[in-house]
Amino acid sequence: MAGKSPEGKVVDAHCHLDSFKKKQLEALPEGIIPVTCGYSHSSNRKTVEIAGELGVPFCLGIAPQTVLKEGKENLGEWMQFIADNRPNAVGEVGLDRHWGKTREDFELEEGVFREMIFLAQKLELPLVIHSRKAESWCLDVLEETGWKGRFMMHFFAGGLDDARRAVDMGGIISIIGLHSKHRKKIIRELPLGKMVVETDAPYVTRNIDGVFEAIEYISKLTGFPEREVGEVTAKNASEFFRFGF
Ligand SMILES: [Zn+2]
Repeated sequence: MAGKSPEGKVVDAHCHLDSFKKKQLEALPEGIIPVTCGYSHSSNRKTVEIAGELGVPFCLGIAPQTVLKEGKENLGEWMQFIADNRPNAVGEVGLDRHWGKTREDFELEEGVFREMIFLAQKLELPLVIHSRKAESWCLDVLEETGWKGRFMMHFFAGGLDDARRAVDMGGIISIIGLHSKHRKKIIRELPLGKMVVETDAPYVTRNIDGVFEAIEYISKLTGFPEREVGEVTAKNASEFFRFGF
């Protein structure tokens, strides 16, 4: 992305282009820079390929849902792939209490999350964090590992206290266009400089233009014009992922 300016463009800070249909990929909506994110070794491989073809920023990681399904026998090889392909961030990684149910599940998830944090530390890359029903747990683990770098709470669905704590620890909060009581509070209370917008497409909205729903939502609650919300969140994302601005 070096040299390409996102001026006048908005950034979808988290989507999964590797899960898009080919036709959909060939006709992506214009004016949006998608940050595409892997979540398993096979998804990471596809992500590298697609990001290369489209020239968009990308993240590589092993998500907790993946670990529960595939175990961690091949984690070493998967991590080497991430290191070799120099992503813009390590992600998505984190903890999940929706899919994880037992004590063993949680131990497995946390062990791999710690490995991902150390990998990001070693590569000097930021983290994109999945924290489904596990926001404070993720922040506890980050603290325990002494994490000092940038991190983004993707599809943040926790409460205002955890959002504030994340921001105090140097994190940013990624807002999706789904309306909720918690999200409304967070948007009203946190500075725009600590927010980015995302779609998690094709899983949450079908396409990356769903990012305008998040922009509109923030605009309504903060009073900032949509244009400004788009510009500031694009700048926040480009600084976070370090692609040209
Ligand atoms: Zn995702």
